[in-house]
Amino acid sequence: MSADPNCIFCKIVAGQIPASKVHEDDEVFAFHDIHPWAPVHILIIPKRHIVSMVDVDAEHEGLLGRMMLLSSRLMKQLGVTNGYRHVINTGPDGRQEVQHLHLHVMGGPRPWNKG
Ligand code: 5GP
Ligand code: ZN
Repeated sequence: MSADPNCIFCKIVAGQIPASKVHEDDEVFAFHDIHPWAPVHILIIPKRHIVSMVDVDAEHEGLLGRMMLLSSRLMKQLGVTNGYRHVINTGPDGRQEVQHLHLHVMGGPRPWNKG
């Protein structure tokens, strides 16, 4: 499935719901989290609707690599110079709330709101 009409992140990718975009290319979209845990908190997502890490396989190796590499580039671009944290929540026990794969990247000076 390339887009799920009921998925909030697919709607953000399609421009149907506004978001504070930090990056877009052919495969990946990145934007600021609406409830940031840290001074800088972005979400990096595949444009295609992939529910979670449960649904990825070898075919997604390049995509996942691109998301990770992009995270360091964007943190630098956003002025985060003293470290940051990556989080991916997967499934019910991982407390995943939005069912579209997303990489949280959080940074900026402590204290943080959460985490
Ligand atoms: P999860 O718990 O699924 O890993 O994280 C979902 C994240 O998406 C949360 O941090 C939440 O604040 C963020 N989020 C949910 N809805 C929206 C939205 O409409 N816009 C933005 N920018 N972030 C959202
Ligand atoms: Zn989606």
